[in-house]
Amino acid sequence: MEQKLFVYNSLTRNKEEFKPLNPGHVGMYVCGPTVYSDVHLGNCRTFIAFDLIYRYLLHLGYKVRYVRNITDAGHLESDGDVGEDKVSKKAKIEQLEPMEIVQRYTIDFHKVMDIFNALPPSIEPTATGHIIEQIELVKSILAAGYAYEVDGSVYFDVEKYSQNNDYGALNGRKLEDMLNNTRTLGGQDEKRGKLDFALWIKAKPEHLMQWPSPWGMGFPGWHLECSAMSNKYLGHQFDIHGGGMDLMPTHHTNEIAQNIACCGKTPANYWIHTNMLTTNGQKMSKSLGNSFLPHELFTGEHALLKKGYSPMVIRFFFLQASYRSTVDFSNDAIDAAEIFYKKLSETARKLASLQQNALTAVDEETDKAINGFCDDCYYSMNDNFNSPKTLEALNNLSKWINSYAASIRNSGEITAQTFERMKKTYTDFFFDVLGLKVEDSDSGDTDELMQLIIKLRNEAKAGKDYATSDKIREGLKSIGFQLNDNKQGTTDWVRI
Ligand code: AMP
Ligand code: ZN
Repeated sequence: MEQKLFVYNSLTRNKEEFKPLNPGHVGMYVCGPTVYSDVHLGNCRTFIAFDLIYRYLLHLGYKVRYVRNITDAGHLESDGDVGEDKVSKKAKIEQLEPMEIVQRYTIDFHKVMDIFNALPPSIEPTATGHIIEQIELVKSILAAGYAYEVDGSVYFDVEKYSQNNDYGALNGRKLEDMLNNTRTLGGQDEKRGKLDFALWIKAKPEHLMQWPSPWGMGFPGWHLECSAMSNKYLGHQFDIHGGGMDLMPTHHTNEIAQNIACCGKTPANYWIHTNMLTTNGQKMSKSLGNSFLPHELFTGEHALLKKGYSPMVIRFFFLQASYRSTVDFSNDAIDAAEIFYKKLSETARKLASLQQNALTAVDEETDKAINGFCDDCYYSMNDNFNSPKTLEALNNLSKWINSYAASIRNSGEITAQTFERMKKTYTDFFFDVLGLKVEDSDSGDTDELMQLIIKLRNEAKAGKDYATSDKIREGLKSIGFQLNDNKQGTTDWVRI
């Protein structure tokens, strides 16, 4: 089977065949969280999407260096250069050391990622740990003539840069439109041009996080850290750079400008951006007050939630949409995801002990269909990591696996090779690629409960109380459980 991976590149606005710079190796940089408060579910969606991409690249056999930073300095309240540093501000409010804030939310972030079964990155550098590299980068940009210093702050000169480069390339915008949509410079503004942005910011004496630099005491601009750390760990040019779509107009646009200014190259060949998780059509964000924290979802303790959902149900809910589509949060949509997830996870659980019956004559059509569904798992992921299509393919495989597990069909009807391929593909994609787990509550406990219900139904049947026995069967069916009475007189159950 031909395996070519196609990736949508936000920079060229095309789906392109993925060709890493160094065959067999992938360098991937993803903008990580700003650790001044809890990550909300929207942030989780983005990091889970990149976990899917990372996992699939690993599955394809690439050696991946996945760098995801921790923003612990430099991110001001707005994406521009105004407001206070988010970490410093929180530290002041809570009367803590900024590093206590950073430590607390970094630990929480790791816990949440772990709960969602997201693999840790290969390197997780922090902005505060790379101040020297950031200062060096500012020096290079100054030396190249693309920045200027004003009273202890250093700004990137967008106008100068735009003489030879397309500043708005990533966002598909023209410089004039960007200029027209930006506020005019106030009399107090030190910047020469409206679109200029800070590389280094002079710190007021009361600012909690500041470092010495050739321009005096200050701190780095937010966009600078990603250029400095991606350069350091992945080189001037690497394969994938990612983050949420909201980072395109400012953060990533400025990052590209910084890299071209200092090193003459756009840092990444493929720019991958995830779309937003929304609540009632509005981007989920801390500042809008419409965000859920992961633990509120697990406990159900939130005014907008009907009940609690398990982490795997939430992960599954995200996987049901392409990473490039918006996902609107709703109880109904997660309820539907829960039913679908439980069905596929029950299949994964059964698969572990499923043995093939003695081989009979091969049913060519079935054999072909099952191989086709295995291929579909790859085709869909190769099509820009299309996880909803992959779930469809797994669902198709699940139907066959369940019918073999419940002895509705004879598993000897397919070749041993196909049987093994079906098992391996399902397991690889369910666990390794999609990063799903069989949750405890859905394993032994469910089976024990079902065995009890089956026993009660059999007693009703033995007492010729067919009304009750049918009621049990139909009732279970309506909530997604199918009972199958087999020839040996026992009853199996499957999720439908
Ligand atoms: P932040 O901590 O605000 O810097 O955000 C961390 C990551 O989460 C960035 O890649 C953002 O683009 C992403 N993000 C923020 N809000 C959402 C959302 N509602 N849906 C999906 N991703 C988001
Ligand atoms: Zn970044």
